[in-house]
Amino acid sequence: MTRSSGGEAAERFQRIVKQPRPGMPTPNLPDRAAECARFRWEDAAALLDGLPDGAGLNIAHEAVDRHLRHGRGDRCAIRWIGKAGQRIELSYAELARQTARFAQVLAALGLAPGERVFVLMGRLPELYTAVLGALKARCAVSPLFSAFGPEPIATRCEMGDARVLVTTPELYRRKVRGLRERLGGLRHVILTGAALPADLAADPGLHAWDDLMARASPDYVIGPTDPETVSLIHFTSGTTGRPKGAIHVHQAVLAHAVTGRWALDLHDGDVYWCTADPGWVTGTSYGLIAPLVAGVTSVVVEAEFDAQAWYDVLERERVNVWYTAPTAIRMMMKLGTDALRGRDLSALRFMASVGEPLNPEGVVWGLEAFGLPFHDNWWQTETGGIMIANTAAMDIQPGSMGQPLPGITAAIVERRPDGHVAVLDEAGRDGELALKAPWPSMMRGYLHEEARYRKCFVDGWYLTGDLARCDAEGYFWFVGRADDVIKSAGHLIGPFEVESALMEHPAVAEAGVIGIPDPTVGEVVKAFVALKPGFEAGEALNRELLGHARKRLGAAVAPKAIDFRSSLPRTRSGKIMRRLLKARELGLPEGDLSTLENDEQP
Ligand code: ATP
Ligand code: MG
Repeated sequence: MTRSSGGEAAERFQRIVKQPRPGMPTPNLPDRAAECARFRWEDAAALLDGLPDGAGLNIAHEAVDRHLRHGRGDRCAIRWIGKAGQRIELSYAELARQTARFAQVLAALGLAPGERVFVLMGRLPELYTAVLGALKARCAVSPLFSAFGPEPIATRCEMGDARVLVTTPELYRRKVRGLRERLGGLRHVILTGAALPADLAADPGLHAWDDLMARASPDYVIGPTDPETVSLIHFTSGTTGRPKGAIHVHQAVLAHAVTGRWALDLHDGDVYWCTADPGWVTGTSYGLIAPLVAGVTSVVVEAEFDAQAWYDVLERERVNVWYTAPTAIRMMMKLGTDALRGRDLSALRFMASVGEPLNPEGVVWGLEAFGLPFHDNWWQTETGGIMIANTAAMDIQPGSMGQPLPGITAAIVERRPDGHVAVLDEAGRDGELALKAPWPSMMRGYLHEEARYRKCFVDGWYLTGDLARCDAEGYFWFVGRADDVIKSAGHLIGPFEVESALMEHPAVAEAGVIGIPDPTVGEVVKAFVALKPGFEAGEALNRELLGHARKRLGAAVAPKAIDFRSSLPRTRSGKIMRRLLKARELGLPEGDLSTLENDEQP
């Protein structure tokens, strides 16, 4: 293939050379290459305390309790902003007391270490207390996305053998009550609020949060925690099929500590905002654990996306570091930069993005709109933490997900018919992205899918299921998920490259690209496009977009057909569901839709 590492679309964008900015702290990782040569995972322990008296490693101790020993007890750990504008500030000391109470609540309910606690609620303060308290109690915890319907809740609780569920009275009434008989193993349900609502009082095993918490003591000694103790069970986004339950352990906190410093450039005293919900791994690893381990103030916003409200948060809270996702960036781009005029965002120092490929347009739009580029980084539920990143001191290649962090070895490999993998050393070749196993936050299993888990590892490599290429400078470029890649007339076409080219057109807000079976060339490329406000779908624009794509990509790669949609189907974590576009186009079964957020509208 003659295309360059970033594809022609990316070539239009110059690399963004990072210059030190006056008044800004020095990046935590000033020289990535030198650190890569030097770093060993054992060194990460220096960033952490470990439990007193050598009693092991516990995420909640590292995220909360140890800060009290270092004089940071009064610092604001979580600044919660409610939907109605309410504000609650939880200091590290207060969070330590609350989570201690919750750990004792679990013990009083008879939960043994290792048993599973599920949390189902919006981004409320109790969610953060419950997750950290459960970790203190050495229970495994699984935060579920609050917009799930009863069926996805039931399947996940069954898969994870939930013993305790923490939720709100409203969610309980609407979604959980009807499942109680089915979920026989679910012994206790804790409802937020002061007292049990009268209509629910007769339900078995129901408790009021305030009541249990008031009876528990604010002092608690975390029991010995082997670093291999299960900490979190996270379900994947379901972009490519039925969600898998990835099992993580307390040892992962080593990766959260270093990646928070290096990939997100968290500095002491920072105000940080991660927009992800803890129902997805980003919202837990980087909305909860990594910022608290770094001792920063983490802003939690209960409300869902709204561009103006988000800009208000950035400005009013004087956010220094912001971690968000391409889907939100695309929505902000749709509105243009006008909405940002006159705002004082001078505190903002670092912006990062994860979850989907970030089109070069998005990186560059960041520069226009905020005076800062978005730093793309790559990881998965299975990797537990950021693996590949554009870090603060690195030049950014718009469209590239960056380079592996110290401690991480990544390569492009090819699966061979004999069951082994071959590393493709030559720069620019497409292949599967693989990571040298192990690293501390690597998943330790898929719930009830041991064979599938084992299949992820070959010859000491963890195979990610994503296709990518690596250029001569060592930057990694996302090509597509193995399942989404299109094979057409001998070409391997990544949907991302085609989508990015379409996104360069001023009319295009979002694009999703799939392959349609074709007897002659294998598959032909078809694009689904949502337009920005003010543009009319129609024959003329259709022709213009096809021409634009052909010019950018060449006839072999450009889409042969374009359909307009008012929006594209997305997972609740914001990823375009290409498999659903394809199933609907071909009249095939739609598969697991438990994580579908919005339905496409023709
Ligand atoms: P499922 O495994 O259930 O199909 P999923 O893979 O979308 O869902 P997650 O673990 O939430 O579930 O997402 C990880 C995937 O998201 C990665 O494997 C990759 O395909 C995509 N991804 C994440 N970050 C990036 C990025 N920076 N660039 C491109 N793709 C990314
Ligand atoms: Mg996946």
